[in-house]
Amino acid sequence: MTVPTISLNDGNQIPQLGFGVFLVEPDEAERVVTDALEVGYRHIDTAAIYKNEEGVGRAIAASGIPRDELFVTTKLWNEDQGTESAHAAIDRSLERLGLDYVDLYLIHWPSPTRGKYVESWKAMEQIKAAGKARSIGVSNFHQHHLDEVIEASDTVPAIDQIELHPKFAQTQLRSYGKDKGIAIEAWGPLGQGKYPLFELPEITSAAEAHGVTPAQVVIRWHLQHGIIVFPKTNSRERAQQNFDVFGFELTDAEMSAIDGLDDGTRVGADPDTAT
Ligand code: NAD
Repeated sequence: MTVPTISLNDGNQIPQLGFGVFLVEPDEAERVVTDALEVGYRHIDTAAIYKNEEGVGRAIAASGIPRDELFVTTKLWNEDQGTESAHAAIDRSLERLGLDYVDLYLIHWPSPTRGKYVESWKAMEQIKAAGKARSIGVSNFHQHHLDEVIEASDTVPAIDQIELHPKFAQTQLRSYGKDKGIAIEAWGPLGQGKYPLFELPEITSAAEAHGVTPAQVVIRWHLQHGIIVFPKTNSRERAQQNFDVFGFELTDAEMSAIDGLDDGTRVGADPDTAT
């Protein structure tokens, strides 16, 4: 099965469906990522703060999959923001991953109280220029954070990875991203299991109509909106299910019904106040 790719503003391509490893325990990561690679995922989303980069790296090495067929993302943790500290942080991440470069490096949160995200963005530009990250972007940036880094630098972030699921659909930021050429990635695409998303009639009725699960409907909703998505699971069976989403298409009416669920319910922190 071929996963569609999205073209980034720097000319690189990213597989639109990937696999996230937030809250995958360090000693589970190698097994979980090995399963994901065997299922067919080629895009893995980790972060320094997940403490599982080593396990991800071991799974990649053991897989024998050519490096250029994989897309690996990691993230600069808040405490490492700043010029020297960002350079040191990418080196540590690469070492843990056992890689010469990542495909995507993201500033994890703006962490505004530190006042360092613009400086860190300039370090990201240097990290890309040094070949340690093929693409660079940000995460949890509101429009005003994006405007600030765009104004202060020579590079428009390729990606903004933001909380995004049917009850928190981020329509404004998605349309801003479209205008600026910033691709949008969804974190918590299934609402992190923090509200009964899979029981909402707009989702269960589409699942019944297509003979698929509610999770597959939600992943399909992201994909049909052009959003990059990487649901997380420790279960190989669910990983397989979440990858099997290219054999059906939601109708316009089903898409609109799910769009109508957006009521501004966040499951995570507000980036303006998160430290
Ligand atoms: P998610 O929305 O992917 O939800 C994960 C939960 O859904 C887990 O409890 C899992 O068991 C369940 N689930 C997965 N597949 C299922 C299925 N088929 N049926 C039923 N339940 C299923 O939440 P997430 O892990 O927070 O987000 C995905 C990825 O986004 C993360 O793993 C991480 O890579 C990234 N992320 C980034 C940030 C950030 O600040 N940038 C924050 C959170 C997550």
